[in-house]
Amino acid sequence: MSARILDGKVVAAAVKEEVAAAVAGLDYQPGLATVLVGDDPASHSYVRGKRRDAEEVGIRSIHHEPPATIIQDELLAVVESLNQDEDVDGILVQLPLPGDLDGEATVEHIDPAKDVDGLHPFSLGRLVLGRPGLRPCTPSGIMRILDHYGIETVGRRAVIVGRSFLVGRPLAMILSERGADATVSVAHSRTSDLASLTREADILVAAAGSPDLIRPDHVKPGATVIDVGVNRTDSGLVGDVDFDAVKDVAGAITPVPGGVGPMTRAMLLVNTIRAAQARRGVA
Ligand code: NAP
Repeated sequence: MSARILDGKVVAAAVKEEVAAAVAGLDYQPGLATVLVGDDPASHSYVRGKRRDAEEVGIRSIHHEPPATIIQDELLAVVESLNQDEDVDGILVQLPLPGDLDGEATVEHIDPAKDVDGLHPFSLGRLVLGRPGLRPCTPSGIMRILDHYGIETVGRRAVIVGRSFLVGRPLAMILSERGADATVSVAHSRTSDLASLTREADILVAAAGSPDLIRPDHVKPGATVIDVGVNRTDSGLVGDVDFDAVKDVAGAITPVPGGVGPMTRAMLLVNTIRAAQARRGVA
């Protein structure tokens, strides 16, 4: 039997409707600032999408596109001006930064109250402590997909392939928090016998950036498979999962494109409205 398709576009549309309603209920217009350095086509396309999403839900988009020749101190000054700008509720610096620019230092310079990507050490620290805060968009988007489709996490075995600070590690924290209560393993490039580990998973998340890494022999029959990978290949955009083969084994699966990607964008809007409400004292 073919797996249920977990449609990120449908869930993202529902999230965007919620955000639009929340924005409409405010007596000010929240602002999301994007900072894009360099001419990487993928980064330009991501930021274009994020700005369009913001405008669709009534969030004002403020965009900075400094030249690739900008030096670190000048970039920090751009971030600082956005930190000080009362009309800016969220700041997103599109990573990776080109050349010698230091992405980590730049993100650390963002006012944590405006850290809508949820990647500032303050936000990640609160996540580790299990305290409320702005959560990284891709992991929280994955949780939202699971929730939308009624996929239980409590007591389930989750295996995440990939240990980046962007996806794998924060998702492991979120899935193992009280409330989510999954038992989580995190695999990486040095994991031996990946397939025997992933076959234990009720929920298998592939976030490695490796096309077709996950094949049917990696998947327990009936498991939920979340494909985070975005890989540009000669045959187009593909994930980390051999979708056509795995869908006959899995119980539920996200497609690429149209799975996790739209959710990452939608959760940025959620974080922006949360940041705006928190900064302006709205419950
Ligand atoms: P990353 O920083 O490159 O991390 C990749 C992780 O996967 C690393 O931990 C790496 O292990 C592990 N890995 C790589 N090859 C592996 C293999 N053959 N077996 C087991 N583990 C392996 O990447 P990332 O930023 O987390 O992104 C991962 C993928 O998700 C990329 O394709 C990216 O484009 C995509 N992505 C998509 C979204 C979205 O919204 N859809 C958002 C973010 C990222 P080591 O640590 O040992 O090197």
